[in-house]
Amino acid sequence: MGLLTEGSPLSWEETKKLSKHVQQHGIEQFIHLYERLRDRQGDILKWGDEVEYILVKFDDENKTAQVSLRAAEVLAKLNEKEMADPNGVKSLWRPEYGAYMVEGTPGKPYGGLLAHFNVVEANMRYRRQEVTELLPAGETVMSITSFPRLGTIGFTYPIHQTTPDDENSSARSLYFPDEAIFPGHPRFKTLTRNIRQRRGEKVDINLKVFKDENTKLPVEGSPPGQPDAVHLDAMGFGMGCCCLQLTFQACNITEARTLYDQLTPLCPIMLALSAASPIHRGYLTESDCRWNVISASVDCRTAEERGEVPLRENQFRINKSRYDSIDSYLSPEGERYNDVPLIYDESNYQRLRDGGIDHLLAQHIAHLFIRDSVSLFSEKVHQNDKEDTDHFENIQSTNWQTMRFKPPPPNSTIGWRVEFRPCEIQLTDFENAAIVCFIVLLTRVILSYKLNFLIPISKVDDNMQRAQQRDAARTQKFWFRKDPTGKKETTDGNTNGLAENGDASSEYELMTIDQIINGKDSFPGLVPLINSYLSSMDVDADTHCTIRQYLKLIQQRASGKLLTMASWIRNEVLTHPEYKKDSIVTATINYDLLKKAKDIQEGNIPCPELLGTSNRTRTTDSIPPAIEKHLRGKPCT
Ligand code: ADP
Ligand code: MG
Ligand code: MG
Repeated sequence: MGLLTEGSPLSWEETKKLSKHVQQHGIEQFIHLYERLRDRQGDILKWGDEVEYILVKFDDENKTAQVSLRAAEVLAKLNEKEMADPNGVKSLWRPEYGAYMVEGTPGKPYGGLLAHFNVVEANMRYRRQEVTELLPAGETVMSITSFPRLGTIGFTYPIHQTTPDDENSSARSLYFPDEAIFPGHPRFKTLTRNIRQRRGEKVDINLKVFKDENTKLPVEGSPPGQPDAVHLDAMGFGMGCCCLQLTFQACNITEARTLYDQLTPLCPIMLALSAASPIHRGYLTESDCRWNVISASVDCRTAEERGEVPLRENQFRINKSRYDSIDSYLSPEGERYNDVPLIYDESNYQRLRDGGIDHLLAQHIAHLFIRDSVSLFSEKVHQNDKEDTDHFENIQSTNWQTMRFKPPPPNSTIGWRVEFRPCEIQLTDFENAAIVCFIVLLTRVILSYKLNFLIPISKVDDNMQRAQQRDAARTQKFWFRKDPTGKKETTDGNTNGLAENGDASSEYELMTIDQIINGKDSFPGLVPLINSYLSSMDVDADTHCTIRQYLKLIQQRASGKLLTMASWIRNEVLTHPEYKKDSIVTATINYDLLKKAKDIQEGNIPCPELLGTSNRTRTTDSIPPAIEKHLRGKPCT
């Protein structure tokens, strides 16, 4: 998303009246776009990361940490360089949902050279430095997934009261004041209000509390009948979390569809491996991830759509929130694994088919378009469907799914892309760079070796829930495809792994994350596959060394030798002298936890249980000219 343009948001009543208009024109716009760009060929691999950060304010005297609501101010400064020289900057900065959040991406996407893996971490470090320079003493920029005491009294700096009874409040939350929503653009408050109004009530998020020896039930604020629930009631609890995303450009639409499908089964695996958010509203919970929180935090479905009362006003019962794991594969190979019935308006689907779009893509788009627009600006209502794509993007960009299939923007040099969206953000640039490089390498291996990771969508859904359980990376098992290389014959002698009767159940089994990443007798493991790919590639010594460190981190997290961020956070709380075994993360515990995290992120103290011991990479600011010429380097030792 580029710099957000200003505009006048419509009320929910007005937006609702225009819902069919947006749907109809959004679909027309996609048809035109597809017609123009379906045959686009020859784009090269480009890719980039998105890192989200929270501004934290420490008060060392009172031992408290709050989120600092200065993101708009900081962002204005950060954007100055870009406005002066849009193509010359090393980083781009965008607003995010929280008034305490910023999002940073590299100034330009990376390309296809292996040496690019060696500049990712340095660029992340540069971004962190850029923000740091703009902060007053006592404030720190932190890449943490959830602020542990978000929603507790006084969690913002400056402090604001919540106004649940004020009709003009966007969130009307008991816990999350509107001032904590990014003020610099109307999009965020508008989304908050419209999602609440469409739903007919506030969003309703309940997480099981982690029950310790002295945990008091009912948990304060828990809803009737759910004494062990930590209750959250605002979009900010989810959209106010930080994540790590990746976008890749494919050479054409077919490759983009393949990548979209093949990365889908990896989403829950990477969610479990990157788990980093066990604390919500000051309570330790049974969950290690933000995913279900964020999903429920923007769940605009009505009671009818959720299936709680019979359908009267609404058209469909809808299984999932608009923020969730994807519902269907897009490639012909994926079709037989689309085992969850897809809901869509038949006439929208038919229009797409008549517009020349194949079944799989047509049902994907039609399914995205079961959602109403929840943010519409008066300037954007009337559009030229042959050229504009705003109505399409309106619905596309508010279907927040694990993967996103991104068509080329109008009049640009950008090709078909896919976005990988499940990962939680990690504390250090080293870890974030490791995850990013691991996933990009995996895409290369998938394409080069024509790997197949597909399993039924219902099993991916199942894995998404497993991934969020406390300590899932170490204790859960996940459905995973037995033979991604397709080399082994199945027992029925069928070499492509398909049983005759169309039943796929012999193709996958339950595996641990360790087995998936590191392999076992009957399964090669993702890192060994990457290593085998790398062994045939020219790579310079520094890049080689850096990649080694990244893969090692991934392997050790997977084997359980190293902790996930979520487990590390849990340990810090459970062993804190002030912790009363009551699941409560007090202001002091929060302060000490974040202070220690700050010291680790800045490299002031080691944290071998999280990062391992040899995590020094040879990351550089730019690719040295000699390496641009593909010189082969010596392996690092
Ligand atoms: P989003 O739609 O998620 O906001 P952004 O526009 O913020 O996406 O970009 C996400 C990432 O895509 C950034 O890291 C950026 O560097 C990268 N990117 C930019 N151009 C391309 C491209 N042509 N191909 C792949 N990735 C790209
Ligand atoms: Mg973005
Ligand atoms: Mg993104």
